[in-house]
Amino acid sequence: MKKIVLASGNKKKVKELTELFASFNYQIIPQIELGVVDAPETGTTFVENAIIKARHAAKVTGLPAIADDSGIEIDYLKGQPGIYSARFAKMNGITAEQCNNDWDQANNDLLVQKLDGVGTEKRTGRYQCILVFMRHADDPTPLICHGAWEGRILESEVGTNGFGYDPLFWSPEHQCASAELSPEQKAEISHRGKALRELMAKLPSYL
Ligand code: IMP
Repeated sequence: MKKIVLASGNKKKVKELTELFASFNYQIIPQIELGVVDAPETGTTFVENAIIKARHAAKVTGLPAIADDSGIEIDYLKGQPGIYSARFAKMNGITAEQCNNDWDQANNDLLVQKLDGVGTEKRTGRYQCILVFMRHADDPTPLICHGAWEGRILESEVGTNGFGYDPLFWSPEHQCASAELSPEQKAEISHRGKALRELMAKLPSYL
């Protein structure tokens, strides 16, 4: 089996990609197992950050690399938090002590606060996911795949599945919060599911 380094240590992402790539006779290796530390995400777009992560992993290991970058855009906040979705509360001055290191909760609390009093029709937004595959660190034409998931931001949290902003993200398809969906239901309609399916469709002619 040929090897691909995954520029992430997230266990769910590792498992999902391992299964998909096995059908192409590729083995997915999380970068941490190869001693690769996270690259600083210095880009200003999802595309740049995904390429930065994939290029770094490919450069350090000499292997083809895959990376993703994702986040949520809120129209009322002019697209914020966007690429800063994981760092939303931190960038707004919340400290680790204040939120007991529970950044997902701190991010959600801040989003509820920022949209306080905003009417239903103005609470629109979407998840975005970019997946990048690079054959080597100097690959001039990385395979770039994209998925978006349109929805709306709830006034308070609902559901316990998923992660991040899922308890606040209303899925119009299922008329419930994303955190009320099973992993399978979410994968069928989510930004990440769509980007992954694009990757799977394009990869055979790219490898
Ligand atoms: P990353 O691409 O794994 O670094 O994720 C960026 C951030 O975007 C996460 O920390 C979450 O805050 C948010 N995010 C991305 N995808 C999702 C999702 O499917 N559900 C909830 N939050 C998400």
